[in-house]
Amino acid sequence: MRIDRARLASLLADEQRVFAERHPGSRALYERARGSLLGGVPMHWMVRWAGGFPLFVTGGQGAYLIDVDGHRYLDLCLGDTGAMTGHAPEATVAAVTAQAARGFTFMLPTEDAVWVGEELARRFGLPFWQFALTATDANRFAIRLAREITGRRLILVFNWCYHGTVDETFATLREGRVVAREGNVGPPVDPALTTRVVEFNNLAALEAALAPNDVACVLAEPALTNVGIVHPDPGFHQGLRELTRRTGTLLIMDETHTICTGPGGYTRAHGLDPDLLTLGKPIAGGVPGAVYGFSESVAQRIRAKTRVDYADTGGIGGTLAANALATAAMRATLERVLTEASYQRTIPLATRFADQVDVAINDFELPWIVKRLGCRAEYWFRPVPPSNGSEAAAAVDPALERYMHLAALNRGILLTPFHNMALVAPAVAEADIDRHTQVFRESVAMLLAVPVT
Ligand code: PMP
Repeated sequence: MRIDRARLASLLADEQRVFAERHPGSRALYERARGSLLGGVPMHWMVRWAGGFPLFVTGGQGAYLIDVDGHRYLDLCLGDTGAMTGHAPEATVAAVTAQAARGFTFMLPTEDAVWVGEELARRFGLPFWQFALTATDANRFAIRLAREITGRRLILVFNWCYHGTVDETFATLREGRVVAREGNVGPPVDPALTTRVVEFNNLAALEAALAPNDVACVLAEPALTNVGIVHPDPGFHQGLRELTRRTGTLLIMDETHTICTGPGGYTRAHGLDPDLLTLGKPIAGGVPGAVYGFSESVAQRIRAKTRVDYADTGGIGGTLAANALATAAMRATLERVLTEASYQRTIPLATRFADQVDVAINDFELPWIVKRLGCRAEYWFRPVPPSNGSEAAAAVDPALERYMHLAALNRGILLTPFHNMALVAPAVAEADIDRHTQVFRESVAMLLAVPVT
């Protein structure tokens, strides 16, 4: 089935009109915000939503959120994973409320921090942990420590990765050379000085890039999730681990998104053995908080290298990191929300999502695919799974994406604005998934000018 571009443009314009008409409240707030907020939003990504202006939200509960115009949406974006637990999970709300009455931040630990450290060690198999405020910070600190203990400057990432606003990671490959990623704002130095980049799943390129023994660490998502879901090929992780070990390169797994795989992330589900691990976003139920952990041997090397009296000028930490409020939220979320039982509920629902979208893709004879990782599913405008970031990025179709998102939004379903991703919260019901399938079918049928089946 070929997509008629003129029809796509006209349908998109129709959906934009409907969106503007149905959201006078959000539109008025957006207009007002333009007087005080750069671009009319408090954080510039918020303009990336498909409607032309963002929804302004009054609240969220479980799998749903409500906007200022009173519309209720099934939320499959979930704050791009920050709210993977669903909005306002009861146990986290109770813990935060109780802690708030006892104080937010002390620059001193609470007992909750010890509980969280023990639980993280149990879940991920890494014995020592530190806290940060965001996944970005956890990655930055992990990289610094890796540089410090290896005495090497370079890091290595996979092409089209995303690990937060970490300078070294905004690098990409162009004709085999490392260059600043398009749109990189004010890079401090040429990223070729700090970073090697290879394609995901390319062990030969990885071997060559690590061969000079000058890379401090590989920072990797165990499966790429920020350019569509790209699964590792069989044997890739084994090769990655062997090559990093052989060359004295530390391996950092960023589980911030792949925590959708299970309670111990992709790492535990697939028996990976990283030297360091980072995790942010949903770990405190959406309250800002992140963690990074180390193996015994990394911990020993850190102890041998770093001096406690330089701690506040070492470039690692943050006054509010490990604050009592976020730590209480982490404990409650790990203990009562992001549990084995929750994944037992969400993974079958995401499987239902993926299976039904797959059937629809086949019924409409579209050259698309759908992929899933734990409770995360995503459809993609290409006929076969990509094996690396470049292949995935080449299939991005902004107009088509915008149309699919806005058609879903106008029918009460939120997808993640950056790609066609759906995350399933524990509060989602099978009927919610079926409704998405129906909306997907309707949107495609309109696009192809064929009846909905
Ligand atoms: N790591 C990964 C894998 C991510 O996807 C993201 C954000 N999308 C981050 C780190 C950074 O998270 P934050 O913006 O909360 O710092």
